[in-house]
Amino acid sequence: MTAEIYDITIIGAGPSGLFAGFYAGMRKNKVQILDSLEIAGGQLNALYPEKMIHDVPGYFAVKAEELVTDLVKQTEQFGVPIRLSEQVIDIVAVDQESSDDKLYQITTTKATYLSKAVIIATGNGSFTPKILKTAGEFDASKVLYSMTDKQKMDGKRIAVAGGGDSAIDMSLLLSEVAEKVSLIHRRKEFRAHESSVDHLQASSVAVLVPLTIERIDDVVDEDTENQQLRLTLSDGQTLEVDYLLVQHGFLSNNKDIRAWSVNLAMDRQHFVVDAHYQTNQELIYAIGDTAKYDGKLGLIVEGFEEGPHAVNQIMAKIHSGNPSHAHSTSLFPEK
Ligand SMILES: Cc1cc2nc3c(=O)[nH]c(=O)nc-3n(C[C@H](O)[C@H](O)[C@H](O)COP(=O)(O)OP(=O)(O)OC[C@H]3O[C@@H](n4cnc5c(N)ncnc54)[C@H](O)[C@@H]3O)c2cc1C
Repeated sequence: MTAEIYDITIIGAGPSGLFAGFYAGMRKNKVQILDSLEIAGGQLNALYPEKMIHDVPGYFAVKAEELVTDLVKQTEQFGVPIRLSEQVIDIVAVDQESSDDKLYQITTTKATYLSKAVIIATGNGSFTPKILKTAGEFDASKVLYSMTDKQKMDGKRIAVAGGGDSAIDMSLLLSEVAEKVSLIHRRKEFRAHESSVDHLQASSVAVLVPLTIERIDDVVDEDTENQQLRLTLSDGQTLEVDYLLVQHGFLSNNKDIRAWSVNLAMDRQHFVVDAHYQTNQELIYAIGDTAKYDGKLGLIVEGFEEGPHAVNQIMAKIHSGNPSHAHSTSLFPEK
């Protein structure tokens, strides 16, 4: 075990955890961020790095992976360590010899740390895409569940399956480079932002609704001799494509979190928090997608508010005499 005691340990290096880490570092706390993935950025890098985000303040539009790069830079300027490939497997409250205050002992797959406070920013836990189950014999490498390299789709024919924001966003994004994009959805209506549906209707994407994919088979294109997928849809029509991108959502798994020793109140996979984002345990806060309270939206921007709020609450408790917020201009040296 390391002898160091952190003021704040943040679990999760998604946008919420990164921004909370920046803010805690700017306020001169001894802070660290832990994440089980190999890269920072949470859902943004793991699920939609190429997608444009339009609802982050200050950006007209920003590519998800670029927002993460900027957040990491912003956080690292204060020397905040972002420890990747370290899954938190347990948190236990322990006594201190020199004081009555408890500490939290955080065990990861690599090390054990001590911290006065914890901010949980674990999103929905680890996530895996919902797999399309369909008949047929086909090359599974042509059925994709995330799109990390838009240029690979240059000049290709692509089908996208799904009816939510990500299916529409990906269809529009791919239509910029692909020869043809077809969007297949089982209902006539889409579960997406009104503006996205408007963009879709004005785009070159062929919308095939209400239809499902009944079968997928490998076929060889007679002209190019390239191997393709033939999709048979529920009305009997067939569609030949180079790739199928399935966007049916994600299954989240927080089994590891439920196994933590500390007894945290949860509502399904979310942590129940009070008006200051504290859980039922003193000095353990939860922010971002993992926090549950009335009116929670699940947007990046919410996590950006919740992080600084939680840090200020923690500082008021662990540092005497410095309880209030401060403006960033007063914390950066004058140039
Ligand atoms: C396709 C798609 C498009 C979206 N588009 C938008 C959009 O345009 N605008 C918007 O505002 N929101 C959008 N969202 C939602 C947005 O991505 C989330 O609100 C945001 O990612 C939440 O950030 P977070 O930091 O709370 O959690 P996450 O991004 O989920 O990050 C949580 C991190 O915690 C880590 N973690 C989990 N368990 C552990 C553990 N035990 N130990 C260590 N680390 C752990 C995970 O590895 C992960 O890196 C979109 C979501 C999806 C899926």
